[in-house]
Amino acid sequence: MAKTNVSRVVEDIYAIEHAFTNCYLVVDQTAVTVIDACFPSTWSAVQECLTSIGRRVSDVAGLLLTHGHFDHVGFARHLQTDLDIPVWIHQDDHWLAQHPYRYRPERNRLLYPLGHPRSLPVLTRMVAAGALRVRGVQATVTFESGRLDLPGSPIVVPTPGHTSGHCAFYLPDRDVVFTGDALVTLDPYTGRSGPRMVAPAATADVERNRRSLCQLAEVAAGVVLPGHGRPWRHGSAAAVSAALGPGRG
Ligand SMILES: [Zn+2]
Ligand SMILES: [Zn+2]
Repeated sequence: MAKTNVSRVVEDIYAIEHAFTNCYLVVDQTAVTVIDACFPSTWSAVQECLTSIGRRVSDVAGLLLTHGHFDHVGFARHLQTDLDIPVWIHQDDHWLAQHPYRYRPERNRLLYPLGHPRSLPVLTRMVAAGALRVRGVQATVTFESGRLDLPGSPIVVPTPGHTSGHCAFYLPDRDVVFTGDALVTLDPYTGRSGPRMVAPAATADVERNRRSLCQLAEVAAGVVLPGHGRPWRHGSAAAVSAALGPGRG
């Protein structure tokens, strides 16, 4: 199994990085929300992280997905089917989460490594982590907007474009926003780092994704926690400015 890295991002929020892909734990007094599900084999690292912070699997109140791509749905089915943990997703990505490989990017992503050799190590590690063996999940709860009844009380920030039901989640009390693949600090398809949108290779509607970035700038969170890449601690507005800067769009 590829190496995983666990880190405490801010108080009571932990990041688990596996094959250049992130999932997060949001902890409150009594329970835990898992945000995104990386790859099937990532779950053991999540369990270890729970143990290390004195929590149990039974404390997990829900798995909240930013969107339905395979590299975010990884262990979702295991949680739902074997552990009875509800899976939450925006209603417009409900179908995609059931078929996490059947999305339509604007360009053929299989051609990408040819033009972007830096992406090859990233994609190779994803495959080793189980990226080709993800089973779809029929989400337990779907939502459109509002504040969700999960630990951390995440506020839904719809950010369509990367997928049609993509959402970010804002936790004002913690001053963080989870941006999924609407805004990343590492693009797995090009290997480039720094705040940016994911390449057209994996994005359904680039123009719509670009417009959605305004929503992220407006939440004005201090810390941005993306689906790929390291945390960005200079604020969501600055991250959006960088993502829209020269050479990024
Ligand atoms: Zn994605
Ligand atoms: Zn992704």
